[in-house]
Amino acid sequence: MSAKIPAANPHVAAMSPYVPGEQPQGGGWVKLNTNENPYPPSLRSLEAIRVALLNDGAALRLYPSPDSAPLREAVARFHGFAAARVVAGNGSDDILNLIIRAYAGPGRPIGMLNPSYSLYPVLAAAQAAEVVKVEVTEQLSVDVDAIAQCGATVFFLTNPNAPLGVAFTPDVVRAVAKAFPGLLVVDEAYASFADADCVALARELPNVIVTRTLSKAHALAGLRVGYALCPAGVAEVLHRVRDSYNVDRLAQVAAAAALDDREWLDVTVAQVRATRERLAAALRKLGWQVNPAAGNFVLAAPVSSTRAASVETSAHCFEFLRARKILVRRFPHHRLTEKSLRISVGTEQETDVFLQAVAAWMEG
Ligand code: PMP
Repeated sequence: MSAKIPAANPHVAAMSPYVPGEQPQGGGWVKLNTNENPYPPSLRSLEAIRVALLNDGAALRLYPSPDSAPLREAVARFHGFAAARVVAGNGSDDILNLIIRAYAGPGRPIGMLNPSYSLYPVLAAAQAAEVVKVEVTEQLSVDVDAIAQCGATVFFLTNPNAPLGVAFTPDVVRAVAKAFPGLLVVDEAYASFADADCVALARELPNVIVTRTLSKAHALAGLRVGYALCPAGVAEVLHRVRDSYNVDRLAQVAAAAALDDREWLDVTVAQVRATRERLAAALRKLGWQVNPAAGNFVLAAPVSSTRAASVETSAHCFEFLRARKILVRRFPHHRLTEKSLRISVGTEQETDVFLQAVAAWMEG
C-alpha cells in the first residue's frame, strides 16, 4: 500500500501564512523595512552569551530554565512588576500565539484594530478563531464603543500602532479596558520609543495584558525574546499552553543582561527618537503627509511637484528607492496606509542616504 499524506485540518488547509518583510541577501542595502534597531545591542548581552559558552559550551548540554525564571526576574526588575505574573516567549510573536491558543478558538473570536499587526489573523486562523476588525478612525484614534461591542474574547490593541505610528494615550487604553468585556492585549512592541506606556494598566486592571519585545528597542530581533505582563491568573494559563522550553539558554541570559543595561537603552532610544524627529521634519518640509510617529518608524505619503499622494505614487517611490538598494515597506491594503511608505528609523547616515534618494526622486 502506498503511503497517503492526510489532508491538513480544514481550517489549516484554508489559511494563508504570515508574510514577513523582505530580508535581502547580500550586502549594500539600506534596510528600513522591518523596524529593526540600526545599532548593535548592549555589550552586556554579548558578554552574557560569551560566559554561557565557556568550557567549550558545556552548559548547552543542559536544558534551559523551563519557565525562564532568571529572565522573568530581570523583566520584573525592569518594570517593577511581579515576576510570577511575567511569561517569557520566543519573541512576542510566541506570546501572542499563546494568548490566542489559550483564549480564542471556534466561537471565541479575536478582535484587532484595522490596520494593525497582520500576524494576529494568521494566529487566529491556526486556532479556527474568527477575527473581528475594528477600524482606526480617520482621526487616527480608537473607537472605544466599537471595541466594547465587537464580541471578541480577546482584543489586540497595538500601541503605538503599527503600521500607522500613532500612540493612543494610557487614558484611552484604560477606557477601552474598562468598556471591553474580555481580555485586552496591549501590544507594546514599540512602546519604548513612545512618551508613555500601559504597564501600570497591566498592574492594576484584571483584564489587561501588556506584551513587549526585545526585538526593537533592545536591538535583539535575531535573539527572539518577548514577554507578557499579565493580570493575576493569566500567567498560569499561558504557561499551560507554551512549549516546555520556549526560550533557549543563550536568549535567556542575553535578554536578562540587556534588560539590566538601562543606560544602553536610554542612550539608544534617545538617539532613535532624535533621528525619527529629524526624518519626520525633513519629510514634512518636502510636503509629504507624515503621521505622528511614536515608534521607531515613520509612516509618510510621498508627493512631488508632479505627483499627488496616491497608491501609484507610493509604489513609484518605493521602486525608485528599491532600485537604489533602499528598502522601505508598503501597506497597500488599507485606506489609511495605501498612499504611504513605512520607513524604519535607521542610523543618521542611513537616514541621510534615504533623504538624498528622496530628493532625487522628487526631482525626477
Ligand atoms: N507586535 C508588533 C506590532 C510588531 O510589529 C512585531 C514585529 N514585527 C511584533 C509584535 C513581534 O515582535 P517579535 O516577535 O520580534 O518580538
